[in-house]
Amino acid sequence: MAELRVPLVDLRASHRALGAELQAAIDRVMESTRFINGPEVADFERAFAAFCGTRRAVGVASGTAALHLALTALGVGSGDQVVTVAHTFTATAEAIAQTGATPRFVDVDKTTGGMDPAALAGALQDPAAVMPAAVMPVHLYGLPADMPAITALADGAGIPVVEDAAQAHGATVVQVEGAAPKRAGALGTVACFSFYPGKNLGAYGDAGAVTSDDEELAERVARLRDHGRVAKYEHSEPGYGERLDTLQAAILLVKLAHLEAANAARARHAARYSEALAGAGDLDLPAATPGRQSSWHLYVVRSAQRDGLLAHCRAAGIGAQVHFPIPLHLQAAWRHLGYAPGDLPVTEAWAAECLSLPLYPELSEAQQDHVIATVRGFFA
Ligand SMILES: *Cc1c(COP(=O)(O)O)cnc(C)c1O
Repeated sequence: MAELRVPLVDLRASHRALGAELQAAIDRVMESTRFINGPEVADFERAFAAFCGTRRAVGVASGTAALHLALTALGVGSGDQVVTVAHTFTATAEAIAQTGATPRFVDVDKTTGGMDPAALAGALQDPAAVMPAAVMPVHLYGLPADMPAITALADGAGIPVVEDAAQAHGATVVQVEGAAPKRAGALGTVACFSFYPGKNLGAYGDAGAVTSDDEELAERVARLRDHGRVAKYEHSEPGYGERLDTLQAAILLVKLAHLEAANAARARHAARYSEALAGAGDLDLPAATPGRQSSWHLYVVRSAQRDGLLAHCRAAGIGAQVHFPIPLHLQAAWRHLGYAPGDLPVTEAWAAECLSLPLYPELSEAQQDHVIATVRGFFA
């Protein structure tokens, strides 16, 4: 029997489903020749704000640009500190450094891998440290961080919360008990999305967005992304070249209409994994999180035998991967911040034990069965 290959993500499958619709949208932009600031940019911004439940969305060049511009618009800069986590992609910390501020890492929660509110409380109460200028939790793997606790702590300290929602398009949180759930993007002061091709909502190149209910803040992000422009050759402050392309906006508009269905398919696959993998070896499966619904960007398990399990999956044609193997505080890029092994023990345990299994909307039952059988086989 030919080996069934199961990639971590399959962008070709999602392209095939929408190819004709996307081609028509691309052709319209090409014929209009409005490649910069074309009408599709504002159309997408309106649609994405409506999806997130915020007053505004501002399209930008990437998720990293979204984080950088949101912090800059808040006035974060040289001499400031921003509290974030080290169990994330390096861009989270890069955006902080790009403003001239310094990332300050706190540990994550043992069961979810998101920012630990107790660790944040410790950082905010540390009398020896400067008061941070902002808090930047990451909705890692698509699961929102503990936003009710984090926003309460930040509100108490009078500092803004910047969501790194790069993996969390459509994830929800019940912020106030008994109230309707809110989507990622509407949970803090301002939020930052990536539309990197492999994200739940992916462009055909780099793209991102900033969402907020604060109109003034959104306007400042909109100016900063476009050279501080207020009129054609009139600039109110030095800005950046971090706009969202019209072509990417046109593609995202088409794909946004299919995002809820795609996320629902991811959630079905995740539930099937959790049912079929329960009790396998020492595997820890994604924790139940009442009040918090993941966008299921990734399905991440934990095992003390992670490296062996990874090799076993790879040998069976399965594109499992580690997100992320080296936490930021131990990366060469952030060595100058002065952290040492053991400083963030829970983060380090996640990095040593986590494994992402293939998950994407078009994952077939046969492919998923192969992953399940392979993982169970490792522990048999
Ligand atoms: C993808 C990602 C980013 C960066 O987004 P880009 O669009 O690649 O710049 C930032 N933070 C997290 C958590 C991400 O997953």
